[in-house]
Amino acid sequence: MNLAPDAELLALVQRTRACVERDVLPLEHDFLARPFRELLPRLESARARVRALGLWAPHLPQAWGGLGLALPAFARLAEELGRSPLGPLAFNCQAPDVGNMELLLAHGTPEQQQRFLRPLAAGSLRSCFSMTEQEHAGSNPVLMSTCARRDGDDYVIEGRKWFTSSADGAAFAVVMAVTDPQAAPHARASLFLVPTDTPGFRLLRNIPVMGEVGADYFSHAEVAYEHCRVPGSLRLGAEGAGFALAQERLGPGRIHHAMRWIGVAERALDMLCRRAATRLLAPGRPLASRQAVQHWIAESRVAIDAARLLVLDAAQRIEREGAAAARVAISALKFHVAGMLDQVLDHALQAHGALGLTDDTVLAWFWRHERAARIYDGPDEVHKSVVARQVLKPYGVDVEV
Ligand SMILES: Cc1cc2nc3c(=O)[nH]c(=O)nc-3n(C[C@H](O)[C@H](O)[C@H](O)COP(=O)(O)OP(=O)(O)OC[C@H]3O[C@@H](n4cnc5c(N)ncnc54)[C@H](O)[C@@H]3O)c2cc1C
Repeated sequence: MNLAPDAELLALVQRTRACVERDVLPLEHDFLARPFRELLPRLESARARVRALGLWAPHLPQAWGGLGLALPAFARLAEELGRSPLGPLAFNCQAPDVGNMELLLAHGTPEQQQRFLRPLAAGSLRSCFSMTEQEHAGSNPVLMSTCARRDGDDYVIEGRKWFTSSADGAAFAVVMAVTDPQAAPHARASLFLVPTDTPGFRLLRNIPVMGEVGADYFSHAEVAYEHCRVPGSLRLGAEGAGFALAQERLGPGRIHHAMRWIGVAERALDMLCRRAATRLLAPGRPLASRQAVQHWIAESRVAIDAARLLVLDAAQRIEREGAAAARVAISALKFHVAGMLDQVLDHALQAHGALGLTDDTVLAWFWRHERAARIYDGPDEVHKSVVARQVLKPYGVDVEV
């Protein structure tokens, strides 16, 4: 297993880091202090510089305007981008668009690719993914009330979703809806591309999360689909394939998140160390002179390095064997890296004292937003059961997930 980047990748990582430092980090002050939409023109300028530097959309094939990186190489870059909340957006590889791009690439018809993927790849519009419903356990997404009824050549979608991230300002949603309630549980639902200006698409509200209502890309919406009619040509993939496609989307999606979280953790550790070195408890006695703080730093350093190895190893396995074969490795890193992030952020925040709770640094934003890492794309407990199932198999125990 060779996890070291080669010289070419190292140079790309360094260019990416330099671009984040020069073009993205300076936007953070206003990002934390001002309404997000006010920042959009400056974010667009940063995106233009990313394009000009040839760093745009690292995950996309070159034919679609991207860098065509394999997953392990993308992992390295995603870590650099994760150091800022704005990094992935500036490089056009942000969730949920990145997953929708991959779905469209693999399963979109040529017409769907031209209409939806082309502008998504160019960064001229955004999208969202609408699966979870408030009244059903999202950790078992075969439970679903939203349905899409055939009506001639069209489908008519009825239902209500929540936590549709980034629906505010999105041009279209990828919606999961039941097309055959009588089918086997995993074959009941299908995916649909629903332009958000379709009559019946109603964004009811941006849901307040940890005290923030959010706006535009940084928001999570409740959405009603009321007699929402779409032509059959906007079904994505085969009828009944919705669950399988959503799983296919989530596998690499979990890796993308984990790679970003490592960048978040590196940023938090850097801030922790800076604070420890400069905050004086008494003349000549910085915070770093205390053993408790040294332990936070040592534990964080090792936890991040171990998590990175886990992610890179899984990324290589996905590249070699596909996401299905690497399923247990993906579950393992999902809960492990999310837990590591939680711990490192907590240490960094603690070391900043009251300042850590303010929005004068990016730590509180990360803490508010990344606590969700242990819930979305499968809660910790589900992924732990997946790993335990494999570990216990030789002992004759069949763990239910
Ligand atoms: C910030 C954020 C963004 C999101 N973005 C999107 C999005 O863009 N699109 C979308 O469709 N959805 C999105 N979601 C929804 C997300 O996918 C669900 O929250 C997730 O699947 C969990 O479902 P749930 O919230 O219904 O929790 P539930 O399924 O009700 O689970 C609640 C808790 O029960 C425990 N639990 C669940 N299952 C098990 C089990 N098998 N064993 C033991 N314990 C268990 C876990 O602790 C879990 O946290 C987002 C969620 C968040 C927080």
